[in-house]
This record gives sequence, C-alpha cells and structure tokens, in this order.
Amino acid sequence: MYAVLHMRLALAFLVPMLATGTTPRIVVQTSDPELTVFARELVPLCEEWYPKIAEILYGSNPPNPPAEIRIAFDEAGIAGRAEGNEIHLSTAEAKRSAKLDFRAVVIHELVHLVQSYPVPARCDGLRIVGCLLTQRHHFGPTWINEGIADYVTYTFFTGTNRPLLRLNSNGQLQGYDESIPYLYGLQSNKTSLHDAYAPRGVKAGKGYQHGYTVTASFLLWLERNKDKQIVRKLNAAMRTNSYRDGIWRQMLLASVDQLWAEFLGASKQAH
Ligand SMILES: [Zn+2]
Repeated sequence: MYAVLHMRLALAFLVPMLATGTTPRIVVQTSDPELTVFARELVPLCEEWYPKIAEILYGSNPPNPPAEIRIAFDEAGIAGRAEGNEIHLSTAEAKRSAKLDFRAVVIHELVHLVQSYPVPARCDGLRIVGCLLTQRHHFGPTWINEGIADYVTYTFFTGTNRPLLRLNSNGQLQGYDESIPYLYGLQSNKTSLHDAYAPRGVKAGKGYQHGYTVTASFLLWLERNKDKQIVRKLNAAMRTNSYRDGIWRQMLLASVDQLWAEFLGASKQAH
C-alpha cells in the first residue's frame, strides 16, 4: 500500500515555489487531473495566508516558519488534517465542495501548522499509564485548538464569523445554512449549546467544548467585549503548554463557564 502511494506521489504534479523570509516553500501534490488547477491555486493562497495567520496569532514576532509545507490530496475520510508540516486533503471532498468552502478547509489546516502546538507523544509499552496521566495534565484542550483554527478561518478568510450565535430560547442554533457547515450540522441535530456534551462517552462538559465554529464565535465575542488580546493569549498558553483551566479567571476574572453563560445570554437576547 505504501509502495503504491509512494509511486503515485513520485509521479504527482509538483508546484514548487521559492521560500521567502516569513513564508515557507509550498509544495502541492496531486495526481488527479481534475484537481490540477485547484492545486496550483493553493500555492499563492498559502503563501499569502501563512504570514497573515502568523501575525494574527503571534503579532510582529512570530516563530520561524518551517522551510517547507507539503500539501497532498489523498483518500482520507475527513476533509483535511494537519500533521507536522504537512496538510492532507480529501480528493473526494475537494471535488465535491464549492471552491470557497474547500479553501476554508485548507486555511483551517494551515492555521494548525502555524499554531504548531505541542502534541502528546504516543503512549504505549510498559509506562503507558504514567504516560497517559502526564499527558492529561500537560496539553491544552482540543476545543481551543480547533476553536482558534476556525476563529482565524471564519473571521479573517471568509469573514463570516459573528460575535454572537443565533440561538432560540432552548439554546439551539437557528437560521444557519450549509455555508457554515459545522453550525448547520449542530442545528440539524437540534443540539443544545447549554447542555453537557459527551462525545463518545467522554466526561460531560459544556457547550463551548463543541469547539470549531462555536468556539470561534465565543472567541470573537470575548475579543470584542472582554479582552482584545484574548486569542493571542490563549494561543501563547497553548503553544507553551501552559494552558490551565484557571487561566480564564487570571485573564478575565471569571471562569470559562461563567463567560460562556454570559455569551449564551447575549446571543439569545440578540435574536
Ligand atoms: Zn482542525
């Protein structure tokens, strides 16, 4: 399987660009003729957006970028994923989605590369229990990771992020369409954003733990109403592995649960 994939990549269409000081070299690979034009367009897109995203998250002093970012289309079941300095995109999803939608997927994954948060090491072998316990306490939550990725994508790239959610009195989303797929999905499932959230049996949490575009809206509201630097502060904590639940009280003098309740109240009042 690997050999076949390797050969396909070796034959693939390559779009190299020269590296600049703040921009990695972007290499896009696809062996699918239907995606050649789209793949070629991803080079200037990522060249333009990598430094923009770095400025949004880190200000004028971002970490050094990697020398090269590789983007490959494959048969992955999910639309996109980021791994190290690579982005993997689903061939099928890229063909199916409207171009702007799928560019948003690319930007979301590119944000993950700029975030470059420490990731847990793989835990196995004799010390697995100690390893898992250590990691439970030393890595920031996924909902913030994904929330920041969508905050950047939908605030700055598509311009569709809003500082309030459209909610009915039961705390369910209303009035969204497929142009914001994540919110539309939660709306279709009549998911309450008040409720405890327990994906796949994980300990129940709060609505903000839906992450992605839900958290993106919450972050924009926090930025407008509580602290203009909130996203950069959270990003710095995540990047340095210093995120703790108490960070909210230190920064904003309220727990994340209290802030979320205030955000939901404001969202309901507005609609
Ligand atoms: Zn993501």
